[in-house]
Amino acid sequence: MTTRVACIGECMMELSERPDGSLLRSYGGDTLNTALYLARLGVAVDYVTALGDDPWSEEMLAAWAAEGIGTDRVRRLPGRMPGLYIIRTDGSGERSFHYWRDSAAARDLFAGPGAAETREALSGYDLVYASGISLSLYGEAGRAALAETCRAVQARGGRVAFDTNYRPRGWPDTAKAQGAFRDAMAAADLIFASAEDLDWLYGAEGEAEVLRHHGRCEIVLKGGGSPPSVRVLARDEDVTVPAAPVGSVVDTTAAGDSFAAAYMAARLAGRPPAEAAAIGHRLAGAVIGHRGAVIPRAAMPDLALTPDSERRS
Ligand code: ADP
Repeated sequence: MTTRVACIGECMMELSERPDGSLLRSYGGDTLNTALYLARLGVAVDYVTALGDDPWSEEMLAAWAAEGIGTDRVRRLPGRMPGLYIIRTDGSGERSFHYWRDSAAARDLFAGPGAAETREALSGYDLVYASGISLSLYGEAGRAALAETCRAVQARGGRVAFDTNYRPRGWPDTAKAQGAFRDAMAAADLIFASAEDLDWLYGAEGEAEVLRHHGRCEIVLKGGGSPPSVRVLARDEDVTVPAAPVGSVVDTTAAGDSFAAAYMAARLAGRPPAEAAAIGHRLAGAVIGHRGAVIPRAAMPDLALTPDSERRS
């Protein structure tokens, strides 16, 4: 039987400002990047979010479908729009991000008519993946609905993966984020945590916050360094897996998202945790060698995870 994965979150419209002030349009989102790379690795994955009924929402759906991402679970909210951000690059090449996302459709995934259907559908997946950015979208009530849905997934034998991805500006205050991340880590079967995120969120207690779950769930702790290492802690395993040096790091956008995708794809293909981490490094290493979150298909490394006969067409 095919293993089905759901990635939950938000994809926003992206506008990059050029030196003459004109804007180049694209779209992006952390969990969408993970869904895209999962699909490219042959995993049956659906992106679970809400969009509007505007032309850009249509365009996003078509682009996701063209990448092999399942879109049946995308809620369409009439009269609503996707969130939007502008990337501004100053004279010294430093990028800043500016958001219009408070009324984005994705924020209401767990609210209003249709939310119950989304939750019921989600509870039937084998693996549900969400990030700290996903959590920041929903507010208290939405997060409670997501937590309850995750318990339903687990009650049916599925698993829940959580990737820390902490962006302070998505939260009203640090205490709210600390509590939400603590709850999400306690509920997860697989945690991807970045030492940097944990440090921002919890200071010196950061690693302890995640390591307390060692033994209960699988933990991938991404450290710093160049090339960086990850520490993988599974039931009776605690190994550090360094990334191979990459010729030239062009753009680290989606490094962590693609790492998570390859790690999960490898685990779903039956590879042990340390091997999955090495496979994660291989994909992330290719992704950072190109500009943007999504690398050309021709640049995808062959990770030899799924026999061709089992790939989703
Ligand atoms: P993020 O901040 O997006 O979570 P990380 O910095 O944790 O990303 O990096 C994720 C992965 O990307 C690393 O585990 C590694 O596989 C790869 N990576 C990032 N930077 C480098 C680098 N300098 N050299 C080789 N691999 C790298």
